[in-house]
Amino acid sequence: MARIYNFGAGPAALPLPVLEQAREELLDYAGSGMSIMEMSHRSKTFDAVIKGAEANVRRIFGVPDTHAVLFLQGGASLQFGMVPANLLRADQTADIVHTGSWASKAIKEAKLYGKVNLAWDGKNEKYMRIPDEQELKLTPGAAYVHVTSNETIEGIQFKTFPKTEAPLVADMSSDIMSRPIDVSRFGLIYAGAQKNLGPSGMALVIVRKDLAARVPDNTTTMMKYSTHIENQSLYNTPNTWAIYILKLVTEWVEKQGGMAGVQKLNEQKAKILYDELDRTAYWKPCAQKSSRSLMNVTWRMGSEALEEKFAKEATKAGFDGLKGHRSVGGLRASIYNAMTLEGVQALVGFMKDFEKKNG
Ligand code: PMP
Repeated sequence: MARIYNFGAGPAALPLPVLEQAREELLDYAGSGMSIMEMSHRSKTFDAVIKGAEANVRRIFGVPDTHAVLFLQGGASLQFGMVPANLLRADQTADIVHTGSWASKAIKEAKLYGKVNLAWDGKNEKYMRIPDEQELKLTPGAAYVHVTSNETIEGIQFKTFPKTEAPLVADMSSDIMSRPIDVSRFGLIYAGAQKNLGPSGMALVIVRKDLAARVPDNTTTMMKYSTHIENQSLYNTPNTWAIYILKLVTEWVEKQGGMAGVQKLNEQKAKILYDELDRTAYWKPCAQKSSRSLMNVTWRMGSEALEEKFAKEATKAGFDGLKGHRSVGGLRASIYNAMTLEGVQALVGFMKDFEKKNG
C-alpha cells in the first residue's frame, strides 16, 4: 500500500490510526453485526457514539455548560446563513472582520438578514494580514462580531482573538482543534469537519445556549440552533459516519496530548516550512509574517509556469494537493493536525531539490 503525503486543503489527510480503526470496525461495529453506516441513528449503539463524540469535544475544548455542542449538516457554508438567521434581526448590525475569501461568504449571507458593518477590511492589502484589535471599528450594540480564525485560501490566521462586547462568532473551519482556545469567550464557534475533525458533510457548532434562544419565530425548523439543542443533534438523521469518525479523531488528539500537544507539533511543522520559504528569494511567501497561518502555508514562485511545474513534479514525487486555490493561484501546503512532521520534512527536502534543479 502506498500512501502519499496529502497537503490538500480539505477534505484533508486524516490520522492513519483513525483510518485503520475505521477499517477494522467497518463491517461489524462493536459486535452489532453491521456497519455504523447501516445502523439506526436512534439505536443504543449509535447513541453511545454520538454521546461519546460530544463528551470528547466537551473535554478537549473545555466547553462550559453554558454552551451546546452540535453536529450539523450543510458544512460551514450553511453556518454563514444560519448564524445571521438566528442572531441578526433586520434592524440590527453584525460587525464582520473582512480578512479574505471565507469572511466574504459570511458577509454575503449576513446582508440578507440585517445590516453589516465591515469592522475592518483587508482588501487594500490583498488580505495578507490579520488586523490588530485596535484597528477594529466595532458598532455599539452589535448583534455579534464575526471573525474567520484562519483564512484557508490566503493563509492568514488570528493569533489572539479580540475582546468584544457583542458575542464573538468564529468560523474556525480550518484551524479548529489545532491549538487551545477559551470557548467561554465565544458566543458561537463553527467549523466544517473536513480538515481537522473528520470527513466532509458535517459542521461542528459550539453555541451559547442563551444566544440560540434569540432566534426569530418564523425561522424554519432545521435552521434553528434551538431545534438541534433540544434534540441533541438528532432532530433528523445526522451524518452518522462523520460523527463516528470525529469521535475517533478526537480520541487520537487526546493521545497526542490534547490541543496543547497538537499545537506544539503544528508550530514545529509550520516553522520548518516557513524557514525554508524564508531561506531563499526563490520562494515568495504570501502572508505577512505576523499573520502567517500554522495550517495553510501559501507562497508564490517566479512565474505561473514554474508554479505549475512545481505542483506537477511534487505530485509525481508523492506530495499531493499543493496547488493554491483556483481563485488566487500560487502554492499552498495545508498542514493540519494529521500531517506528520516527517511529511513536512520530506516536502522541504523536495523543495530544496527542486530549487537546485530549476533555480
Ligand atoms: N470557512 C472556511 C475557513 C473554509 O476553509 C471552508 C472550506 N474550505 C468553509 C468555510 C466552507 O466549508 P464547507 O465546504 O464545509 O461548507
